[in-house]
Amino acid sequence: MLKPKAIFDKVTDIKISFLMENDIKAVILDVDNTLIDLDKKPIENVEKWLANLQKKNIKICIASNSYKKQEIANITEKLNIPYIYFSIKPLKRGLKKAQKLLDEKVENIAEIGDQLFTDVLGANRMKMFSILTIPISSEKNIIGKIKRKLERIVLKKYNVEK
Ligand SMILES: [Mg+2]
Repeated sequence: MLKPKAIFDKVTDIKISFLMENDIKAVILDVDNTLIDLDKKPIENVEKWLANLQKKNIKICIASNSYKKQEIANITEKLNIPYIYFSIKPLKRGLKKAQKLLDEKVENIAEIGDQLFTDVLGANRMKMFSILTIPISSEKNIIGKIKRKLERIVLKKYNVEK
C-alpha cells in the first residue's frame, strides 16, 4: 500500500513519454515540497513542465492537503489548472473529487507527491498510479524529521532508495 509505482528526483524529471507509456491521461499534483519548496518558491521550470503536459493533452489537477498557496496559485490560474485544497490525503474524498474533475479512470491517473503516508498511500488506495518525488527541501521540524525517517524505513523494505 505504501509502495510507489515510480520514484523521481523532482516533478520536472517526469517525462511526458514516461506518462504516455504508462497510459497516464491525467495527473494529480501535490504542492508542498513537490511544486514549491519550504520557502514557498515554485521549483525551477515547473511552469514550463505544466504547460508541456497541457500541450500533450494530459489533464492536470492540483490537490494540496493545506490551504491554497498563492505562490503556485499564480501559475495554476494562468494555466487554468483546477486546484483542490484541504484534500485530506490519504483519505479518498479529495482524490475522488480530483478524479471527477479530471473525468478519467483511476488507472489512467497518476498521483504525484513527496510523501508516502499521504500521496502514495492515497494514490494506492484509489488504485491510481503513484509517483513519489524526493522532497525538495528537508524538513525543519521534529515531526517532519520523524516522518521522513519512517518513510526511509518503509522504502528500504521495498528496496528502493530515497
Ligand atoms: Mg507534499
